[in-house]
Amino acid sequence: MKEVTPPSEGTSPNLPASPCPVCARGEHRLWAIAKDYEYCTTGDEEFLYFECRQCKTIYLDPMPVDRLGVIYPENYYSFLKRPSGLVHKLKGLLDRRVFQEAMTNIQGNALRALDVGGGTGWMLNALKEADSRVCETQVVDLDPKAKAQAENDGHRYFCGRIEDFQSDERFHVILALNLIEHVADPLAMLRHFRELLTDDGVVILKTPNVDSIDARLFRTSYWGGLHCPRHWVLFNDTSIRKGIQSSGLRVRKLCFTQGAPFWTWSTLIALRRSGIVRIDKERPVMQHPLHDLLQALFAGIDFLRAPFSKTSQMFLVLERGPR
Ligand SMILES: [Zn+2]
Repeated sequence: MKEVTPPSEGTSPNLPASPCPVCARGEHRLWAIAKDYEYCTTGDEEFLYFECRQCKTIYLDPMPVDRLGVIYPENYYSFLKRPSGLVHKLKGLLDRRVFQEAMTNIQGNALRALDVGGGTGWMLNALKEADSRVCETQVVDLDPKAKAQAENDGHRYFCGRIEDFQSDERFHVILALNLIEHVADPLAMLRHFRELLTDDGVVILKTPNVDSIDARLFRTSYWGGLHCPRHWVLFNDTSIRKGIQSSGLRVRKLCFTQGAPFWTWSTLIALRRSGIVRIDKERPVMQHPLHDLLQALFAGIDFLRAPFSKTSQMFLVLERGPR
């Protein structure tokens, strides 16, 4: 298998690329070259990630927009049954606290919630447990197999892309957890959220942070935050603020949270390069026997350092702002 020659620091091949999807400027440099090491869906095909020189957003170009069925295989982790166990129970408790805090200012006793990329609606179930006022719930997801389970749990289900979802109703809560990095035009999606949000509603958003130690450390080998070729636009805290503001939303809260999955994937792919572990189509990175152990370890480390440093994941609460 031909190995990638990653760009070293300071190199800047003058490759043509689309303008930055956040600030629309055209000046960029090649930031990383990657393959689908995690699910091995696209063989030896190389994908180019560019860094906008203006706002430092990282974006994939060209984006495989017409190949969603290929790059999200049947064994893609979010299509599978939700994991259980102590770590996930603990995470569930933390999620509920986060939701309660984000929803404090919302008025009314009958709230509507939307989860974009929400699969079977398991996170909406957690949201209902966090706030009993949530009574109408909607999932938007690409996975046709999640529909029956979601509807069985009382959620409405739209099978398709968020860009194609229309509703006359407004939502008090929109969950966009690890979603914005998967879409081709994140600013258009944020504008769409603004239209779907009630006046006192909130968008709860989580996305990778490229301005992190592990992004710098693994850039020339393989950084898990690229989730190549499924993450298309990656932000830092400045560029996400810029994108949100220009979309008519406002940041109420931005903090850094544990980026254990990216540390884990980066590490496992580095071990694969050394021939120490096997990762292929049948056993993708998320199903490797070491995955959960490494993730628990990195989560603990990041949990301790998150209050003091920029970890590789950002958590944001957004509200409607002036147009
Ligand atoms: Zn830019």
